[in-house]
Amino acid sequence: METAPAAPIRASDRLHFVLIPLMAQGHMIPIFDIARILGRRRITTTIYTTPMNATRFRLTMSRNSDLGLPVRLVEVPFASDEVGLPYGCENLDALPSPDLLRKFHCALEKMQAPVEAHLRDQGPPPSCIISDLAVFWTVEIARKFNVPRLIFNGMSCFSRLVCSNVEEHLRRAPEYYSSLADSEQFEVPGMPIGFKLRKSQLPKIFGMLPNLGDFRAKVDEAEKTAQGLIINSFDELEDGCVSLYEKAIGQRIWCIGPVLMCNKTRVDRLNRGNKVASDEADRCIEWLDGMGPGTVVYACLGSLCRLVPAQLMELGKGLEASNRPFIWVVKTAENERTWELEKLLKDYNFEERTRGRGFLIRGWAPQLAILSHRSIGAFLTHCGWNSTLEGLCSGLPMITWPLFAEQFVNEAMVVDVLRVGVRVGVETAVKFGQEAKLGVLVKEGEVLRAIEEVMSSGEKGEERRKRAVELAEKGRTAAEEGGGSSYSNLTHLIQFIICELESRSKM
Ligand code: UDP
Repeated sequence: METAPAAPIRASDRLHFVLIPLMAQGHMIPIFDIARILGRRRITTTIYTTPMNATRFRLTMSRNSDLGLPVRLVEVPFASDEVGLPYGCENLDALPSPDLLRKFHCALEKMQAPVEAHLRDQGPPPSCIISDLAVFWTVEIARKFNVPRLIFNGMSCFSRLVCSNVEEHLRRAPEYYSSLADSEQFEVPGMPIGFKLRKSQLPKIFGMLPNLGDFRAKVDEAEKTAQGLIINSFDELEDGCVSLYEKAIGQRIWCIGPVLMCNKTRVDRLNRGNKVASDEADRCIEWLDGMGPGTVVYACLGSLCRLVPAQLMELGKGLEASNRPFIWVVKTAENERTWELEKLLKDYNFEERTRGRGFLIRGWAPQLAILSHRSIGAFLTHCGWNSTLEGLCSGLPMITWPLFAEQFVNEAMVVDVLRVGVRVGVETAVKFGQEAKLGVLVKEGEVLRAIEEVMSSGEKGEERRKRAVELAEKGRTAAEEGGGSSYSNLTHLIQFIICELESRSKM
């Protein structure tokens, strides 16, 4: 882990980084942030994505051009037809069923040829490729162009270390895990601070599902052969996990986050990510302007939440029962689940019952702009890593409701290690396509209890809030130009790329 102050960079204005994100909001948003950060360091970036995803980032890109940043977006076709995906299924948030996941990855693989052809037409090869963990075919492109390749890993070192330690322990003591009941807690081995997880929350399928076995092997190989990993986190938050994870995998890691800090103004924050109808975003911010400081609970379970409508209603009723102002984001798609939720909301008269103190957002919320508003007092989150960082960097205590992947590990970090959150009490991960089987796990009363605990003005609540504000300050400092740890780490990364290019040119 590099912490020494970084020397000035030579020749960075001639550098050109290619960025290839996985098409899912939690992966694309931080990649666009990274492009902006690199742009501020005078490094040209080209992001490759598909037409539908390019449209979603139109506002972010127009903000980049207003800021005069050298960020380019190149559209390459997505072979939906060829692999048998429905029209418009270009992002994981649009996949109606897990059966289509394999087809999605097949179409993703087919992007290699057009990306490669475009790069060849561009003249000089890029200086470096930053590729999402899932985009394994960048291995071949980097080899053909003889350029360094780094992996952008959407998780924290903390959660990657948990995964690596548990896998290692499982290899050594399989009988220990097989003797555990699903709901039984076990101490996670080898972490700087002790905490427990349940087997039912084990991150063994982090990101990938069983029918993607062969892709998984290629992804693992692509990660192992990369020149290093870029992590959206900061050294001070990871508290020793960066060097432990570096040692575990034998690769270099650069923590360059929280990358969300590149969104310095409200306009940046409003234009981040998925295109938002601006009058709706303005209406939401105006509504927040009218609320008292720290009074509003913001509830959003990320971009991929597929909880059944009856479960979402329990969340809504818990918000209602709290008697506090709230913003609740519900995802909309043209499907039965959306219609069923709408019917439940209507039958319950939800919007009339909460009029004046409830703000329902259907679709995409300008989350970062909302979280950074002074009226927000707590964040009810699914603990996706981006949302977790956004909550932490906004100095907010959190109510944690993890769904799947490494979100239970992020919950443990927030609640047990950083002590800025309260669990609603979910014990089992949701599996894509099997949400209905789980049914209703969290009742209205549990939501209410967690909100009360987090919003309470008692000593524990005050201490939690104080810790949250201190963490936000650390995040801000890490990203600060000049001396921040993440700023320095990025300088070291750029110098590493320059050295790599020099040594490759001599070969
Ligand atoms: N997000 C948003 N508005 C929404 C839902 C999500 O801006 O209505 C953003 C959120 O701020 C975060 C990203 O989408 O940057 C979601 O990433 P995360 O890792 O939190 O969760 P995922 O959606 O991948 O499960």
